[in-house]
Amino acid sequence: MASPADRRAAPEPWLRRAGRLALLSSLLGLLAVLAWWTGQRDLQTPLVDVSSPRDAWVGPAIRVALSEAPVASAVLRIDGAFTITAAGKSPVLHRGTSLGTTTLRVTSDGFRLGKVLLAAKRLEITAARDPGLWVDGHLYRGRIRCEQDANQRLRVINLLPLESYLASVVDGEMPRDFGREARAAQAVAARTYALMSIREAPASALWDLYATVRSQKYLGVTYTDSTGSELAGESESSRAAVAATSGWVLTYRGKLFRPYYAACCGGQTLRGTELFPEAAPPHSGIACRYCKEATWYRWTIDLSVTALSSKLKPLARSKGRTLTAISVIEPVASTGPEALSRFRVRQGQQSFDVTGQDLRLALASDGAKSPRMSIQRTATGYRITGRGHGHGAGMCQWGARGQAAAGRTARQILEHYYPGATIARAANLAPAR
Ligand SMILES: [Zn+2]
Repeated sequence: MASPADRRAAPEPWLRRAGRLALLSSLLGLLAVLAWWTGQRDLQTPLVDVSSPRDAWVGPAIRVALSEAPVASAVLRIDGAFTITAAGKSPVLHRGTSLGTTTLRVTSDGFRLGKVLLAAKRLEITAARDPGLWVDGHLYRGRIRCEQDANQRLRVINLLPLESYLASVVDGEMPRDFGREARAAQAVAARTYALMSIREAPASALWDLYATVRSQKYLGVTYTDSTGSELAGESESSRAAVAATSGWVLTYRGKLFRPYYAACCGGQTLRGTELFPEAAPPHSGIACRYCKEATWYRWTIDLSVTALSSKLKPLARSKGRTLTAISVIEPVASTGPEALSRFRVRQGQQSFDVTGQDLRLALASDGAKSPRMSIQRTATGYRITGRGHGHGAGMCQWGARGQAAAGRTARQILEHYYPGATIARAANLAPAR
């Protein structure tokens, strides 16, 4: 990891030659200009754009599946009065003044909440207080929908206004100390991603996206971690990042696109179509010099020939090969710095090709963090040197942090990582369907 000192430039020759007085007056002048400029900048371009209250945008509601897979049961708690209806129907199945920690299970003809039987395949739970609904230790805004699937498993879905959802996503996806402009850029990317998820959800879908990094990390208002500590899932600053960018989205040629983003690109973002066939042109891949301080800017894994061979066996099998011991693993010519790493694995006369993404997945438990890497033979096996953390396409979150620290605005950050994209008001876009 580079220390901040590594990034300082050497003094200019003119500075070394200047006399003390001249230096002092230059510095004072510079400070005055800097103070004026900082003040102007804050006044003129605070975030993506100045958003006055009358511009506050009311987005659609979003449906968030709280787990990727269906579950056997969920633990609910409700602060204050609540009602449970069969989703889509008005008669109230159950109501209460509050609910202590109670398990919701699926039964053959509906659900059982503690001792209360609820005869419906879909439930909707509404609390008088917002936020007031707890599911598995997370406090959520909006409403909760419980769906029973064909295998008598449970899906819990949180329905809430998009902008409320985003306040938690900004904190879930980016640390609070990454800088105001970086978090504003994150809010715009997350809003656009969420809107695309709503638009692209099939009509029969019960949810728009997941609460995990499979979509965007969403923890709710507060949550209890594995040690029992209660943590904030959103904050004053995440709500401010959402409010300041209210309604701003990323577009390409006048249309929304799904903006990918990842923790650290390692110095060069990936061409989106390398991993996501439908990735829009603003994922062309660009150089990034702002993420060197990331924890996983570079990473290394050392493996013996036997260990690497054994890790690659399933990959070989999926390609119709039987791998016993690797003879050579060598890079295959790539189509540019924005392409995935590719390698040819040889064993005697036979060979097969693997991508960096294949290796990232095969070596995840060994510490592989991204699909871009190089491989060197060592005395005892192979050393894999990787670049970055995450898939690497679109906005580099550590790079956004670096850019914010260098005084760049959210708009500049977004235009850098999504070249060719335009930042627009969602309210001004044509309806998708
Ligand atoms: Zn980067």
